[in-house]
Amino acid sequence: MIALLLVAALLPQQVLVATPRGQANVPVSFERGAAAVAASRLTQPLGLASSIDGTAVRVVLGGRTFDFDLGAPFVRIGDAAYPLVGAPYVVRDTLFLPLHWLAEFVPRLSGGRYRWDPVRARLDESAPVVAPVALSPPGGGTTSALPPVTAVPPAPTVGANTPNPITGLRLRHTIVVDPGHGGIDPGNPGLHFPGRLAEKDITLAIGRLLRAELVRRGLTVVLTRSTDTLIDLADRPLFCRAECDLFVSIHVNSMPKGQRQGRVSGVETYFLSDAKTEDQKRVTQMENDAMRFDTQTPAGDGPLAFILKDLQLNEYLRESARLAELVQGRVAAIHPGGDRGVQQGPFLVLAAARRPAVLVEAGFATHKEDGPFLASALGQRRIVNAIADGVVAYLLEFERKLAVGGPGR
Ligand SMILES: [Zn+2]
Repeated sequence: MIALLLVAALLPQQVLVATPRGQANVPVSFERGAAAVAASRLTQPLGLASSIDGTAVRVVLGGRTFDFDLGAPFVRIGDAAYPLVGAPYVVRDTLFLPLHWLAEFVPRLSGGRYRWDPVRARLDESAPVVAPVALSPPGGGTTSALPPVTAVPPAPTVGANTPNPITGLRLRHTIVVDPGHGGIDPGNPGLHFPGRLAEKDITLAIGRLLRAELVRRGLTVVLTRSTDTLIDLADRPLFCRAECDLFVSIHVNSMPKGQRQGRVSGVETYFLSDAKTEDQKRVTQMENDAMRFDTQTPAGDGPLAFILKDLQLNEYLRESARLAELVQGRVAAIHPGGDRGVQQGPFLVLAAARRPAVLVEAGFATHKEDGPFLASALGQRRIVNAIADGVVAYLLEFERKLAVGGPGR
């Protein structure tokens, strides 16, 4: 898709760091694939300090401590760990840090001190925020009015936490579950659903059951909707920001009238990328069509601009593909309609998620066995257990990667 090519073309060759003390152009390296910047080039403009101990990398910036491991695409902040696009690495005695970290995690934790402009590839440091009156020096000087530096506890050793008895997971994780459609947007009409059920009813039922199952396994879950309401397509991924590890959108497939309508069945799991096949284009178009129900579209922007706005589009591609693979494998194993595999498409609902994100098309409402299976309590239960299995399998892998090169290994 054209939009995706444009996004690739817009990956910055350099980053402008603008601070009250001056500006610096920092070249972006693609030597190891993902965009990265040399830590030493950030020392002067930002006051970044870094140290390497074995494979452990510690970076202090703006009063925050970030812990990395060389070769592992994650950053630990306090007691939370986040996947990154690209891993820190050392080339010719120079430490390179993922641009993704600089563009997203540094601003997010800075309390407004740093802002990232993805269009101009520019990181702005604002003048120190004036602290509360009581902390200001007499005369309102600004030099000592820096926001208080919050003490950040040392990053936990992964092995230090007791594993959850059900899942074996050691860290806290939050999953955003997104039941597709809702309210005035029924989704597909559900040809073989009993009664007058539509896609929106099945996605809500599965979403609520999935929340219950994941909570039972010790995970934290946020639902984008828990009732028959419509959430703007563009707003759904916004549920997945600071406190979120994964985004899972639930949908039901359908085939248009025609020879194939009654024959096609099974589950498929999508991640965000270019649509390659006619079927992928059909599903993407069908799900993106919910955009017309959105109460507010970005001013003057069409759907393409909406996707374009997100320059970090590809950053979770590999992790999303892996999540899709694990979820698809588990659900396909229990699905009477069969395995239609991992698929890809430029879904609006996935475009703005800041985490690995997948969309599960849990079966075909237009198939005479898939439809009743999706609408049945037993079918929903089996689908939910399988999705939960896939999510937990992914998170276990994620935690194992975090432990690579960590203490005690
Ligand atoms: Zn749908």
